[in-house]
Amino acid sequence: MRVLVTGGAGFIGANLCRALAGAGHEVRVLDDLSTGHLGNLEGVAVDLAEGSVTDADLVTRAVDGVDRVVHLAARASVPRSLADPVATHEVNAGGTVRVLEACRAHGLGVVVASSSSVYGDSEVSPKHEGLPVAPRSPYAASKLAAEAYALGHGAAYGLPVLALRFFNVYGPLQPADHDYAAVVPRFVDAALHDRPVEVHGDGHQTRDFTYVGSVVEVLARAVAEGTSSPGPVNLAFGTRTDLLDLLDRIATVLGRPVPVTHTDPRPGDVRHSTADGSRLTALFPDLTPVDLDTGLRATIAWHRSRQG
Ligand code: NAD
Repeated sequence: MRVLVTGGAGFIGANLCRALAGAGHEVRVLDDLSTGHLGNLEGVAVDLAEGSVTDADLVTRAVDGVDRVVHLAARASVPRSLADPVATHEVNAGGTVRVLEACRAHGLGVVVASSSSVYGDSEVSPKHEGLPVAPRSPYAASKLAAEAYALGHGAAYGLPVLALRFFNVYGPLQPADHDYAAVVPRFVDAALHDRPVEVHGDGHQTRDFTYVGSVVEVLARAVAEGTSSPGPVNLAFGTRTDLLDLLDRIATVLGRPVPVTHTDPRPGDVRHSTADGSRLTALFPDLTPVDLDTGLRATIAWHRSRQG
């Protein structure tokens, strides 16, 4: 099968490209290399179209000749969206419409990355897809728009779409070395360099950490099986881990305590985020997610390998 992965040079995208190419698929990547980079794809056979998902002509050329599309390209950061909401909207919402339109022109099925951030600060736990949405940042609003456009194209044009709400994905290739780094790479990198780990707030906020290998398995199966759904689907498995527990687990893998400093909570951050995974399980009944300790060991091994 020939698969287009937008955002394929990024963290999740490059892990996916590796798996798809390894399984014998032909992989094309559309990426502007703004947060992704070619090093993530070293040794992976992909055909690269460099540029933006907001460029209609480029997107049209990129989908030409492929069998299915996985749309991951986005400005994937809450703080960046707070700093520049218009840019986030143009890429995350506008770029998604461009990709959907190109898919419509070719009758292609498409998997679209949405985000648990669409649930906002709802107290309900676990979060099921029937809950009202309540975005608390321009990023969350843009992901909600992206998934709504995808589902709208599904309903209006019969396009086979699957909008997956990712919850805190972590694993190899996820960068720690920028201002907007996600929590797992930030914690692991600080701990490996013997710096105190900076925790925003009291550390009792919870997350449904999902290993990138489990996310890739779902995406690869959705591609191979042509999975679609008329409503959004959580991509997580219902685990609830608070940040201090996460740090304990990292300390256990490293075999030494990890010092912590507490700073102010970040604007737009959500307090608790755990998924109800029953829609996902109904679509893929035999999925076995990678557990947190196994995922952390693989993640820490990758960070160590980069230290040389
Ligand atoms: P990432 O930043 O590593 O990957 C995004 C990729 O998109 C990068 O390679 C970047 O260069 C590319 N990109 C950005 N703007 C682009 C544009 N205008 N045109 C083409 N390419 C562009 O982030 P990630 O963590 O791999 O996220 C992938 C997707 O998953 C995103 O849609 C993100 O919103 C979603 N998501 C991720 C998480 C998570 O925990 N990592 C959680 C929820 C949702």
